Amino acid sequence: MPLKRALLSVSDKSGLVDFAKGLADSGCELLSTGGTAKAIREAGIPVIDVSEFTGSPEIMDGRVKTLHPRVHGGILMRDNDGLDLAQLESIGGAPIDLVCVNLYPFSATVAKGAPFADCIENIDIGGPTMVRAAAKNHARVAVVVEPADYASILATLPSGGPPAEARAMLALKAFSHTATYDTAIAEWMQAQLCKGKTGVTTLKYGCNPQQKPASVRGLLSPQGPMPMPFEVLCGTPGFINLLDALNAWQLVRELAVATGLPAAASFKHVSPAGAAVYAELPDELRPVYECVGKTLSKTATAYLRSRQADPLCSFGDFVAISEVVDLSTAELLKIEVSDGIIAAGYEPEALEILRAKKGGSYIVLQADPAYDPPLEEQRTVFGTSFRQSRAADPVGLATLDNVVTQKKELSDSAKRDLLLAQIAIKYTQSNSVGYAKDGQMIGVGAGQQACARRRSRVDCVKLAGRKVETWYLRQHPKVRSLPFKEGVKRQERINARVRYIEGDMTPIEYKQWVTQFESEPEPLSTSEKAEFMKTLDGVTLASDAFFPFRDSIDVASSRGVAYVVAAGGSKADAEVIAAADEYSMTMAFSGLRLFHH
Ligand code: 5GP
Repeated sequence: MPLKRALLSVSDKSGLVDFAKGLADSGCELLSTGGTAKAIREAGIPVIDVSEFTGSPEIMDGRVKTLHPRVHGGILMRDNDGLDLAQLESIGGAPIDLVCVNLYPFSATVAKGAPFADCIENIDIGGPTMVRAAAKNHARVAVVVEPADYASILATLPSGGPPAEARAMLALKAFSHTATYDTAIAEWMQAQLCKGKTGVTTLKYGCNPQQKPASVRGLLSPQGPMPMPFEVLCGTPGFINLLDALNAWQLVRELAVATGLPAAASFKHVSPAGAAVYAELPDELRPVYECVGKTLSKTATAYLRSRQADPLCSFGDFVAISEVVDLSTAELLKIEVSDGIIAAGYEPEALEILRAKKGGSYIVLQADPAYDPPLEEQRTVFGTSFRQSRAADPVGLATLDNVVTQKKELSDSAKRDLLLAQIAIKYTQSNSVGYAKDGQMIGVGAGQQACARRRSRVDCVKLAGRKVETWYLRQHPKVRSLPFKEGVKRQERINARVRYIEGDMTPIEYKQWVTQFESEPEPLSTSEKAEFMKTLDGVTLASDAFFPFRDSIDVASSRGVAYVVAAGGSKADAEVIAAADEYSMTMAFSGLRLFHH
């Protein structure tokens, strides 16, 4: 059946005249609104004003033009043996077979920087109503929302207009058109009206300075804008700061629940350089951690431990604390080079100290401990939209139930460290492994291109293992007794010790390095390092996937590893278990892969 009646009402009038002419030439009657009707009429094409069709004039400067039962009855009428048609005719209406609408240019008006009232006036009401009605009734009606479709629609006219499948696809496009239109309105209103956690925060730039504009906001939901899980108390966070904060907060929140202890993390580039729970600090570690004579609260101790896993990497870190930050923790942070912090709260004096840090630009975020994000998460990459269910199940003691080695016993402290290491790598860019000891990560290997099925996973174990070595060798008597000159700063001492341990200085670097000492230190030889490493024991290792070969266990054995947790499920499981048995390790298979990207 040929199309009998079409309603055209468009803001973007490109291609309109040709389209209207094609429709009219095929015998279709045209109905149209003010400006659209004018353009059609001026081209000499017959057109009926909608106001004539409805018997009701456009009112309120065009706010109400097509919102009329004759129009919407005409669009929504079903082919149901004349039942709907009879009702329609009883109000003086007639069926409409094609609706061609595009909407008031809301986004373009906003982009021009128009005043609030102008933007509001550019919210189309009648247009989306017709588009949605026609899309809903696509069983009978064709809906056209963009000029790019005019030509293909004209081509179908000789055979009665777009066939059923094409009408369904046009309807899909129409709903997508109104959905994006309404999203743009809601996001604009969120930006205009909401402040704080439900508002929109403009970021200086994205990942890089050339990535502008950049912003962050709570998700829009059926209940309105969702609050973000944090509030900015001080500073202007950047894109990477917030990625760090949100990952680090999840880590400490999960860790504190799993262990019942205050938890802290020190993040760099969206992976933890360190993470820890509270565990008493032995006196011999105090000089190594540069905190002799300091009274530290439990929370401060947890942060100190997280920071001291890899103090070189933690320089300029983003900190997360599961607890309310106390004075002791704030005083510790005061002297560290750090970018910002997210925590469950702040004692007033602690907040005062942090607000004064970095000339007032230190980023202080207050997390909402009760916040739980939706179970589904979404992101876009290169114009592609991804959805997945969030890794919402917490890592718990059940991951340690399946002990696969001959040695079965896991002490409470081993269990704590195995939970810590797993939770830390759960929020580390994969591939990752992590070593922990005494409630503290002592080596995190992040973002390795290693394939879980190939030998290269061992690279990650080696990389994190080198960090463990550096961490432990900082306790070597020769490192502890380096004769620093008076006035060498704390971070310089930390850096100098690490370079001494690494021992790979160029002659030029060495010349500068040695000026920091009263007398030239004797080198730390490879054999001295190896001897000392033999005294390291009780270390825990967690992997974010299975070990595909025994080599990772061999490497781990030289870093004092006694406890291992991995996903298991490799063809090489038997070989890996045999290796763990040879080194008298206790290993659990968690059945849980922990990749994170
Ligand atoms: P025209 O240029 O024809 O006067 O207006 C076309 C625009 O009006 C289209 O963008 C269409 O979506 C919109 N429109 C159609 N009917 C109504 C209505 O009843 N109220 C409002 N506010 N806009 C409408």
